Amino acid sequence: MTDAVVKRIVSEKDATGDLPLAKGVIVLNDGGDKGEEEEITVSVKSEIILAAGALQSPQILELSGIGGKGLLETHGNEVLVDNPGVGERLQDRAIVSQGFEVGAGVPSETCCGTPQPDDRGPAPDSAAMVMTPSAPQDFATILTCLNHPDSRGSAHIVSPDIRVKPRLDPKYMSHPLDLEIMARHVQFVEKIIVTEPLRC
Ligand SMILES: Cc1cc2nc3c(=O)[nH]c(=O)nc-3n(C[C@H](O)[C@H](O)[C@H](O)COP(=O)(O)OP(=O)(O)OC[C@H]3O[C@@H](n4cnc5c(N)ncnc54)[C@H](O)[C@@H]3O)c2cc1C
Repeated sequence: MTDAVVKRIVSEKDATGDLPLAKGVIVLNDGGDKGEEEEITVSVKSEIILAAGALQSPQILELSGIGGKGLLETHGNEVLVDNPGVGERLQDRAIVSQGFEVGAGVPSETCCGTPQPDDRGPAPDSAAMVMTPSAPQDFATILTCLNHPDSRGSAHIVSPDIRVKPRLDPKYMSHPLDLEIMARHVQFVEKIIVTEPLRC
């Protein structure tokens, strides 16, 4: 099934009454040519594999009643499993971008590009806007990425509507070691650009 959004997993308590057993998923179908969105329940034969990405997998769990009790109740969801760990311990890689003006006559090029608006709505934020200086001179940009952060963030629902994106809080640099490592790398980049052969 394409062009469909999973709204939530349907579960029932098992015989012991302790654990919910996944029975199916409720899907919002775009309605195809008719254009009328319809809600379909798809039954499960053996199992459900939840693979909606790091941000939307916890969203589906929380909208299915699996998550922190307080949060689920805030959004009017039935609590099937009280597990405040859902949506927690999110890891995201922070990037620092340093731009340096290049010497006269040295060619440089904007490689990140600027996304064009399309019929899905306004243009998304451009990577180039974030990573490259806005001044008209020629620049070289060096990116430093923290590939193994110790900081842990979260992604949680802000609405009972699956179409409302969850709130991402990456908590970049909340672990002091991340800040220390990133700061040293940024200083190292400043050393590299004044060192041959980059120094001119
Ligand atoms: C800018 C960027 C650059 C990256 N570069 C690299 C790289 O160079 N090398 C690398 O190894 N990894 C890279 N990654 C990471 C990589 O993209 C992810 O690790 C990988 O895509 C995760 O796969 P996934 O299947 O778990 O989730 P995703 O690829 O996020 O797929 C989840 C899918 O579920 C769908 N979905 C979500 N919610 C619903 C719903 N309710 N109903 C129906 N469908 C839904 C989404 O539309 C999506 O198609 C990059 C990520 C980003 C953002």
